[in-house]
Amino acid sequence: MRQVSLSNRLNRMETYQLFIDGQYTDSSSGEWIESMDPYSGEIWARVPKGNADDVDRAVGAAKRAFENPEWSGMSASQRGKLMRKLGDLVLENADRLAALEVKDNGKLISEMKAQMMYHPEWWYYFGGLADKIEGSIMPIDKKDAFSYTMYEPLGVVAAITAWNSPLLFIAWKCAPALAAGNTVVVKPSEFTSASSLEYAQLVKQAGFPDGVFNVISGYGVDAGAALVDHPDVAKITFTGSDLSGQKIYESAARNIKHVSLELGGKSPNIVFEDADLDMAVKGAVAGIFGATGQTCVAGSRLLVQESIHDEFLDRLLELAKSAKMGDPMDVGTHIGPITTKQQFDKVISYIEIAKQEGAKLVFGGGPCQVEGSGGNQFVEPTIFTNVSNDMRIAQEEVFGPVLSVLKFKDEEEAIRIGNDVVYGLAAGVWTHDIRRAMRFTKALKAGTVWVNTYRAFSYMMPFGGMKRSGLGRESGVAAIRDYLQVKSVWLSTATELPNPFILR
Ligand code: NAD
Repeated sequence: MRQVSLSNRLNRMETYQLFIDGQYTDSSSGEWIESMDPYSGEIWARVPKGNADDVDRAVGAAKRAFENPEWSGMSASQRGKLMRKLGDLVLENADRLAALEVKDNGKLISEMKAQMMYHPEWWYYFGGLADKIEGSIMPIDKKDAFSYTMYEPLGVVAAITAWNSPLLFIAWKCAPALAAGNTVVVKPSEFTSASSLEYAQLVKQAGFPDGVFNVISGYGVDAGAALVDHPDVAKITFTGSDLSGQKIYESAARNIKHVSLELGGKSPNIVFEDADLDMAVKGAVAGIFGATGQTCVAGSRLLVQESIHDEFLDRLLELAKSAKMGDPMDVGTHIGPITTKQQFDKVISYIEIAKQEGAKLVFGGGPCQVEGSGGNQFVEPTIFTNVSNDMRIAQEEVFGPVLSVLKFKDEEEAIRIGNDVVYGLAAGVWTHDIRRAMRFTKALKAGTVWVNTYRAFSYMMPFGGMKRSGLGRESGVAAIRDYLQVKSVWLSTATELPNPFILR
């Protein structure tokens, strides 16, 4: 196996390989995709441009591994042990993996380090669940029958991930998939594949049999589409944009595959006049400037009650002005670069759209030169007021540090505006009134509602979207059900079968 360890070599050009059947291997095309460090602007690595042949090799390995008694005959308790071992290895390598993510996607080291330290919890939690997948014995209403259900894995799972948190998404998807006894082929984003390819080494080191975990880098329309279409893939679990999710869903329908979709959002973050305004201001900033706004749960529509609108805005501007843009490897940095040039252009174009629509720019509003950065991919934290909910800036996902502030009069209007969007991933509510909080948690059409907090996650808390934000849930006990199918078993002790022409 070729070693591609990063230790102390992050400043040299790295070459990665696909990970198929327990081995690092080149793409059959011999072609590469270059990875750019969004802060320095340097090409720092190249990853294979995987194609349909490579996908076929990876799915073939995953299928053989699924059928091989080394995996299929392994006890669920033993699977759980391997998963806990992997969690330990991730923890041991947390610093290195966090630095690798920062190099590839430009997110802050302070966030990525915390994320990598927390990441093992998914392996521990689902490793613990592996041997608690229980069927039921039914109090069956038929004479002479003993009937029970059992849960079985689906087969080969394709895990297709977005560029903003590649390793976290591996844990969210692969921990329940492997706990359930499936095998996986991961297809990370073409922009940030290095960490997922590197991660495969740890899976091997943990002792998983060859072929259980495979990683194919490549473009979505190429390797991604081939993976979705492959007849031996039983399930697709996808994180990315709603447009890609829709294509994947359509394509999966042709072969009646299982699908989970974690898609985009345009989440309302709603502040009432009775809220703790200091907390709410921090919550608004966390919602939109955390992760440089490149997060699916971005609280990109800030709804402020009109009685406190001006005061709240003053406070928000004060905090936003203190945000330090800079090197994402510096723990003092608050806002890093946008991950890709395409995304940078998209964010800038939405700022222009908002101006043309008549929204009032009150802060930021353009690209920004940061000393020491050669990447030219910084966007100023940007705030628009006078936004109405029918504007594109209030309806479409920007995926960058651009906030739309909308006013509302009362609860009814807040709920109406909050829900008047095609997405339903998350929402925030800031209030001291517990009855109001309860009314909103019920009324808001979102998979997650945070009250007096924002961007909180846990391995035990289901996460996913309503409406155009997706299907299925990740994390929490129920997530494992998305990787299982139920089988109903009937045992009969009857000594004769009555009339064979009617339903029993
Ligand atoms: P994207 O949809 O462009 O790409 C996501 C992945 O899908 C990549 O690996 C890409 O190569 C692959 N892909 C693209 N088209 C494909 C196709 N036709 N067939 C198979 N694979 C294909 O998204 P992105 O730009 O990488 O990520 C940003 C988006 O992801 C945003 O919309 C964001 O909200 C969303 N996101 C959602 C969550 C969540 O949990 N709900 C989390 C993070 C990001």
